[in-house]
Amino acid sequence: TADGILRRQRARESSARTYARSFPIVPARAKGMTIEGTDGRRYLDCLSGAGTLALGHNHPVVLEAIQRTVESGAPLHVLDLATPEKDDFTDALFATLPKAFADRARIHFCGPAGTDAVEAALKLMQTATGRRGVLAFTGAYHGMTAGALSATGSVAIRERVAGGAAEVTRLPYPYPYRCPFGVGGERGAELAATYTERLLDDPSGGVVPPAAMILEAVQGEGGAVPAPDGWLREMRRITGERRIPLIVDEVQTGVGRTGAFWAVEHSGIVPDAMVMSKAIGGSLPLAVIVYDQDYDGWLPGAHTGTFRGNTLAMATGAATLRYVAAEGLAERAAVVGARMSARLEGLRSELPVIGDVRGRGLMIGVEIVDPEGELDSCGAHPVAPEAAERVRSACLERGLIVELGGRFGSTVRLLPPLVITDEQAEAVLERLADAIAEVSG
Ligand code: PMP
Repeated sequence: TADGILRRQRARESSARTYARSFPIVPARAKGMTIEGTDGRRYLDCLSGAGTLALGHNHPVVLEAIQRTVESGAPLHVLDLATPEKDDFTDALFATLPKAFADRARIHFCGPAGTDAVEAALKLMQTATGRRGVLAFTGAYHGMTAGALSATGSVAIRERVAGGAAEVTRLPYPYPYRCPFGVGGERGAELAATYTERLLDDPSGGVVPPAAMILEAVQGEGGAVPAPDGWLREMRRITGERRIPLIVDEVQTGVGRTGAFWAVEHSGIVPDAMVMSKAIGGSLPLAVIVYDQDYDGWLPGAHTGTFRGNTLAMATGAATLRYVAAEGLAERAAVVGARMSARLEGLRSELPVIGDVRGRGLMIGVEIVDPEGELDSCGAHPVAPEAAERVRSACLERGLIVELGGRFGSTVRLLPPLVITDEQAEAVLERLADAIAEVSG
């Protein structure tokens, strides 16, 4: 039974598990946006494997790729030898990249997770530049291994472990709702850019010479916070002028999620490296870095590992990338996401615990606040993490899986699959609004 499974896993598994604590569900089957538990209860899944499942669960295109590859007799594990599957995946991926980037790009297959790719990107740029420092941002999330963890902004996340390798200078991310300089919107982003530039040029600013700047164009775990395009262009200018390689972490934003195939496309910036994982594997683990050939400075063996792109993941990944492109799912994410965000924005007047609605495409955040609390200088009410936690539970009771993120975990995050239907989007909005209304009292 579900209870028995939950009990046995709780007794035997690490206490570091997280999702298992928030969602006492034992998934038995899943299709599209729906997960069915062993108890027969059905849930609409707005977590999508932490943003991995662009096509939802068990999409026919993904299942067909697995079946075809298995039946072909292809070896499932070959270290980093050349294979037709790897060739095909690389073709499919390069076809999605902004042209100015693709023309000069090299790819490196990393260990299976996003954090492995972040680690590789930081290390590559340290090798290429001969510098040690890293520029990273408040609210950023890049992963859990030592280097990626040190680039992650949240002290709450970093202090759970003793560790961190890279010498990171933390810079303000232009979070318009709780703006770092007391001014919101574009003006706040301009101030953040000016501060960054002055700090980098201040010899007594304490900045360790940076091997790279790493950023998310839309912060995911940070609470679905999109950076203004103008700010991204400023970061590109500032790093370009100082010959600091710019790494854009597209682990969560990639493959159509934000309404463009890659989130960098909205601002038109061309990064020096992109870090990719999650959706590029089409449900299976796969992570790569793609970077400008000028930085291809590693000697053979400088960054190796046993699992460097699994054959099945390359097949499911290539199939997913092609399907997202052919079906225009990034455009669909833009349209459905804008509609959902507008509806949520419309709820703010009747549900004052909704402090902010933001995001891009199908990466949506609803920040839950204490409407009785004092406004800060940007016009934001205090965070209300306990209320956000109650919203998540109330959603689960209504058959809706949502995750929390952002400052103190006070933002409800929606990451539905890109194939979400209009009816499903409607059901998500109804259940979420109902849950928020219950918590508002
Ligand atoms: N970068 C970003 C932007 C992420 O959202 C995540 C995962 N949430 C990671 C890196 C780390 O990926 P993984 O969990 O696969 O190590």
